[in-house]
Amino acid sequence: MAETEKPKDVIRASEIDPKFKYELLKMHGSEKILRCFQCGTCTSDCPVARFSDTYRPRTIIRMAQLGLRDRVLNSETLWLCAACFTCTDRCPQGVEVASVIRVLRNLAAEKGIVPAVFKEQANSILTSGYAYNIPELKIKKREAQGLPPLPRGNPESLRKTLKGIKFFDTIQKGSSSS
Ligand code: SF4
Ligand code: SF4
Repeated sequence: MAETEKPKDVIRASEIDPKFKYELLKMHGSEKILRCFQCGTCTSDCPVARFSDTYRPRTIIRMAQLGLRDRVLNSETLWLCAACFTCTDRCPQGVEVASVIRVLRNLAAEKGIVPAVFKEQANSILTSGYAYNIPELKIKKREAQGLPPLPRGNPESLRKTLKGIKFFDTIQKGSSSS
């Protein structure tokens, strides 16, 4: 099974941002990133990596350590983490792998780099209160089977609660400008 994202990924000096790791050291969750010595325990215990040819938490950590800012923030695999924290529990160096991934996702989201599926979910939460828009057909089926109506979402209250969270602010900005 391939260990890195893609064999074509030759690292060019121009891609390396030497300041990136120092920025990460100051962020909550990624303070211990430099402790990683690439043992691979996080990858071998990760339930997502087990079913993916591309998702490797160890590789994500290494890209961040090397200062491959754009590459790691644009990596689609960043969004495959299920946040189960197994990697964090098992890392012999105490690297909070899942939290590092969260930090990197937040940085990506600040730049508007968010997979379409998550943008759709976030938009749905902000407009309906549900992560998925429930199709009218399903609602009618429930009625036909005598099931009680689904509780109404409260998107206004959610929007207030989520105000200030960069991910949702970015999504809201994106939807208001589109
Ligand atoms: S388990 Fe910890 S030390 Fe080992 S590769 Fe993963 S982050 Fe690095
Ligand atoms: S938190 Fe993410 S990277 Fe860590 S084991 Fe779970 S799915 Fe894998």
